[in-house]
Order: sequence, then structure tokens, then C-alpha cells
Amino acid sequence: MLEGLREAVRKFLGGGSTYKDSVEEFIRDLQRELIRADVNVALVKRLSDAIRQRALEQEPPPGVSRRDWFLKIVYEELVKVFGGEEPPSVEPRKVPWVILLVGVQGSGKTTTAGKLARFYSARGYRVGLVETDTYRPGALEQLRTLAQMSGALFYGEPAGRAEEIASRGVKELESRGAQVIIVDTAGRHGYGDEQALLDEMRRIADAVSPDEVALVVDAAIGQRAFDLARRFHEATPIGTIIVTKLDGTAKGGGVLSAVAATGARVKFVGTGEKVDELEPFDPQGFVSRIMG
Ligand code: GDP
Repeated sequence: MLEGLREAVRKFLGGGSTYKDSVEEFIRDLQRELIRADVNVALVKRLSDAIRQRALEQEPPPGVSRRDWFLKIVYEELVKVFGGEEPPSVEPRKVPWVILLVGVQGSGKTTTAGKLARFYSARGYRVGLVETDTYRPGALEQLRTLAQMSGALFYGEPAGRAEEIASRGVKELESRGAQVIIVDTAGRHGYGDEQALLDEMRRIADAVSPDEVALVVDAAIGQRAFDLARRFHEATPIGTIIVTKLDGTAKGGGVLSAVAATGARVKFVGTGEKVDELEPFDPQGFVSRIMG
């Protein structure tokens, strides 16, 4: 994703043409890369305008070359597009910290629940996992196994109402000393069926009063994530977003920028199927990497 950006930076610093021509050429390369990564065209236009305007109006500070200064502007504007300067905090602000995972079927919720268990266990928290998905055969055993792999506590029931299982699960794991409790849900909807997803989220949230509701989104949906993320962000003030399967798509730029444009925060990204392939998302680190 956005692999061509490094080359554009190299070309720009190599500087065959005049500064102004190089800026225009760089902006064209940047636009092509972003659109290839599925970033929204209107967003790309706004970003280009902002970069061009600053490049023409602002003078570099003493001792800094114009080309280095220009790349600093590009970096700053890209960081804004991908979520801003502050990386989201991943530390629980109290214990127990209850995270409710929601998302459409197949987005990677159960896998992510296992990854979060690993992540927080590795940071020294006693973690508990609750499975409320009674529809998908195998979800219960999948999560139980993931819990065992991370030394996490586990609660699940093979049948019943999700909100009741969630409520019993959180209570029981709390009484067993869990400090981070992750509740996995069924999410038997498809993309475009936001209302059903939000209704399910509300029902279960009412039962367990989560400290955080994390929406799990498959990176392959690219900029189409905008509507889902926007409605989710409006529906809950404690919402964060986890983007999965960033390793398997060229549309990662689309999903990350679309989420940021809604004002929601991407907190983690999934970068593979394995249990340790989850990273806190840091927009500055991400932009530094893609610019090389
Ligand atoms: P759920 O229906 O939302 O619970 O989705 P699952 O957790 O069962 O995941 C669906 C599929 O996505 C599984 O095959 C997972 O291995 C795969 N998956 C989940 N996260 C990632 C990721 O970050 N990268 C890759 N490549 N695959 C993932």
C-alpha cells in the first residue's frame, strides 16, 4: 500500500527540474498513489490544495532547504488525513476495563478478540474473554482455544441470548479477577446493514456497560468504511475502531483515511492471521513509514 510514495520522495529530492515543477510533479505522484490506495478523490483534492498552498505561501525556516521543508508540509498534511498527531491510548483507564467488539460477520472479530487477549496479557493484565456468538458453530471453541493460548480466562455458553450471556460472562470474569474483559459478538450482518449492527451493539452494551466499544472493520472495504464508521461514531461516544487484514489489501489507505474523516479513531490494526499480528495504530509512524 502506497509503496510508490517513497520513490516519489526520492525523485523529488533528486530534483532535476525547478522547485515549482518538482512540487507539481510530486503532487501528481502523490495523488496517483493515494487514489490507487482507494483514498476518496475529494479528500485527495483537498489535501493537494492544502499542500500546494502551504508550499507556495510559507517560507522555510533558516537553515532548512525548500525541498526538505516541502516534505515536512506533506508529512504534516498526510498525518492529518490518517488520524492526527496523537496516537490513541491503548492503556485501560480503570480496571476492570470492558471492551465490546462489534462488526459485521467475517470482519475478524473473534480473531481480534484473541489478539487483544494476547496484547493485554503481554502487558501484564489479567484478561478475560467472553463469547456471545451462538450462531457460528465453532466460534465458542475458537475463542476458548485463543484464550488458552494467551493464558486468558474464558466464559461462553453454547446457546442463549447474547446480552444475557454477555452480562453473566462479564460478572463471572470480573469476580475471577479479570482486569481487561473482551466481549465478542456475532455480528450476523453484512456491510450496508448498519442499523442491525448498531441495534445489536446497543442491546449488548445496555447489558454490560462497556468502557469501550470497538468496531472491527475489514480493510478490504476501503473508503466504503466511511458510512459505517460515521454512523458508529455518532452512535457511541466510547467507540474506537480496529482495522483488520491490512496485510491483504491495497485499499488500506482508503479505510484509514475514511475512518479519520469521520472523526473516529483507529486504535489497532490487524496485519495477519496470527495471534500476535496486531499493532496499536500511530498515524505519525504510519506516514513516516510510507514516506520512507
Ligand atoms: P468474525 O466473523 O468477525 O469473528 O471473523 P473471524 O475472526 O472468524 O475472521 C474471519 C477471517 O479473517 C479468518 O479467516 C481470520 O483468520 C481472518 N483474519 C482476521 N484478522 C486478520 C488479519 O489481520 N489479517 C489477515 N490476513 N486475516 C485476518
